[in-house]
Amino acid sequence: MNSVDARYFDGRSSRPVPVRITVVGNHAEIRGDGVELRAPISELRISEPLKHAPRLLTLGDASYCEVDDNAEFARLLSESGHRDSFVVAWQNQWRAVLLAIFALIAVLFAGYRWVLPVAAELMADQVPLQWEERLGREATAFLERRIFSTSQISSERRDGLVDRFAAIAPPDGRDYEIRFRNSKIGPNAIALPGGAIYVTDALVALAPDDDAIVGVLAHELGHIEHRHLMRRLFANAAVGAVTAVLIGDVSTVLAALPAILIELDYSRAMEREADAYAIDLLRANGISTSSLATLFERMKDAHEERSPSSGWPDYLATHPPTQERIDAFRQSRNR
Ligand SMILES: [Zn+2]
Repeated sequence: MNSVDARYFDGRSSRPVPVRITVVGNHAEIRGDGVELRAPISELRISEPLKHAPRLLTLGDASYCEVDDNAEFARLLSESGHRDSFVVAWQNQWRAVLLAIFALIAVLFAGYRWVLPVAAELMADQVPLQWEERLGREATAFLERRIFSTSQISSERRDGLVDRFAAIAPPDGRDYEIRFRNSKIGPNAIALPGGAIYVTDALVALAPDDDAIVGVLAHELGHIEHRHLMRRLFANAAVGAVTAVLIGDVSTVLAALPAILIELDYSRAMEREADAYAIDLLRANGISTSSLATLFERMKDAHEERSPSSGWPDYLATHPPTQERIDAFRQSRNR
């Protein structure tokens, strides 16, 4: 059987005419009372198959047929070589739709996780150092005004730490400047574009010895050497730009920039990179990493105690120490 029953509407009146559609070669022939039409199948528009609706077969002149027998019609189309397009077939399956959504999320995630960091690194490397220094100046001005106050540590102690670190810092490395400051943010350290390294009094107080502080400075210098903040800045700007495109709010791009300066949300990969830099630098100079591991353990405890109730946003909790990172320092000692 190569034909199917249908109702024909001429597009002008709503009166249905019972017809029979027959496929002959590449053509469809529509015959009924007063209707005699012949059209190439390729010129017909055929609606998507829906479970509870008749399929529509529209001809060039806006006249159309309704077909109730979906199964029979599908078989007829199939035998005549007309298949539902791939997309239409997929749209019928909600599982496939879900799969498509998950695939989209996976692509976005992969872009964020793997493509973005590489792109951000390439872009950061293109930024002239003067730009980075200018950004650093504005960030330090903000932090000095809002976050930090004068250090209570004696200048002898501070100078001693600066000198100790200068003795091990690579002579051909990037410029840096160590600044000790008092702050409400608790034990922390932070490296800014342009080379400013801030260390809070609370961190100095928490350190078991000077080796640990030198270790923290080495970690921060690692961030500077790898231009982590610039990479993070570009990554966040890119995320902001994509968000702006997706939700149509251009101000997101601008809004992202100050947020980054405050959050300094280094990725874990960057922390590992800075840790590896610190371990190499300490070991090359015969300094044990176990003091740094102890300091990190104390920071971890302080961080966990402070977070739930302090009400102070973890503004500068740039690198909350994790057990994984502490273990890396402990293992380094044993090698
Ligand atoms: Zn860090």
